Amino acid sequence: MAISEDVVIVGGGLAGAISALSAAKAGVSVRLISHKESTLRHASGLIDVLGYPTEDDPPVVNPFDALDALPDSHPYSVVGEAEIREGLALFDEITGDLYAGDHTDRNALVPTQQGTVKPTARYPRSMATGIGNDRAMLLVGFESLPDFDAPLAADHLEAVGVPFASRGVTVRFPADLRADAKLTRFATALEREETTTALAETIEHHIDDAERVGFPALLGRDDCGSVRSTLESHLGIPVFELPGGPPSLPGLRLADRLFEALDSAGVHLSTGVPVVGHETEGDRISSVLVDRGSHTPQPYHASEFVLATGGLVGKGIDSDRNGVHEPIFDCHVPHPEDRYEWFLGEAFGDHPFARFGVVPDGKLRPVDTQGNLEYENLRAAGSVLGGANIAAEKSGSGISLATGALAGRLAAEAI
Ligand SMILES: Cc1cc2nc3c(=O)[nH]c(=O)nc-3n(C[C@H](O)[C@H](O)[C@H](O)COP(=O)(O)OP(=O)(O)OC[C@H]3O[C@@H](n4cnc5c(N)ncnc54)[C@H](O)[C@@H]3O)c2cc1C
Repeated sequence: MAISEDVVIVGGGLAGAISALSAAKAGVSVRLISHKESTLRHASGLIDVLGYPTEDDPPVVNPFDALDALPDSHPYSVVGEAEIREGLALFDEITGDLYAGDHTDRNALVPTQQGTVKPTARYPRSMATGIGNDRAMLLVGFESLPDFDAPLAADHLEAVGVPFASRGVTVRFPADLRADAKLTRFATALEREETTTALAETIEHHIDDAERVGFPALLGRDDCGSVRSTLESHLGIPVFELPGGPPSLPGLRLADRLFEALDSAGVHLSTGVPVVGHETEGDRISSVLVDRGSHTPQPYHASEFVLATGGLVGKGIDSDRNGVHEPIFDCHVPHPEDRYEWFLGEAFGDHPFARFGVVPDGKLRPVDTQGNLEYENLRAAGSVLGGANIAAEKSGSGISLATGALAGRLAAEAI
């Protein structure tokens, strides 16, 4: 039987999930098609709206005060402040008690596993007591987890001038895990109360004058609330997680929450399958072609489509010796012809490739070289959009939320 919906979303990252939820909220039938895991698996789980609007400047206190500094081609300039707020409101509604930060427009400064502080708009509640104030902090790392060096991270925090004392200690993890055990094994081991209690007994000898204790983000695969409260009741002081990764359990927990919400909203899911092309009728897309392993790709029909396939990392934008492409709909991606102009000489500069992506009109519909619509019924959301250097600006998730929520809503309104 042919598959047909009102709206088809391609891509199951933050942008695709929010687009699908936004469209479903408007009462239309929605299918989300996604191939591999999204960048949430690697991302810290923090929801950054805007940390550094301009290169070399200090982080902004309030991202909304800094929107005017962005170029006209930036996705935030295209959608405007009200849509950024709409995207955040939808995120808050979906994530509920999993996230905090919605009480203020100001960026929170969250200490990270690298010993930096990151300006962010929303943070997992498990990280909340690591933020700000002058309470002395103990960071705890594990001998069998070399990716996190707690004493070094604590020294870094003091070096960047945080207003609290910070000390780090490395201890033995209180369960037998292989030397190369994955992060998820640490996390599920801690979901057993005897392991968490043994960890608390190991840590209490190191507390001294510390008034809060930070761990890498592995306090339970799913249930970090109960792992934290067990530790807190033994230690008598607040316990928090530090963002890090990849892989990132806060990112995975967020992905789980988004997919639970998609299920509850009645969104039809086709995961683990790639969209490999499309069919058109006149100026409109009639279907996307899905490779389900059979001889011929299967058409999935819809009235409206949202492209949320990610940027260069997720292969929503692809490059080869001949240029930079959007592979499913062949939307125009502006880029210099000379490949040597894609990069700067210095490693950490504002590289042109970081802004590669499709160009939207005011309703997020990709346009061609002349500024004409590529298709009447295609919208784009998230890091497939060009115009932002999300890594330098610290704006990745905020752009996905703002453009995802708008693209989904406009797609539903067009039905
Ligand atoms: C290492 C790392 C760390 C990050 N840290 C942060 C951070 O601390 N804070 C922050 O705000 N942001 C961070 N980000 C950025 C943030 O994760 C992304 O900007 C944002 O989530 C992008 O979401 P997206 O949905 O646009 O794309 P993606 O997450 O890339 O999702 C795209 C989805 O589309 C699917 N897809 C692609 N092609 C096809 C196809 N042909 N058919 C079907 N499906 C397809 C992919 O499999 C994937 O599921 C980080 C990103 C990375 C890579």
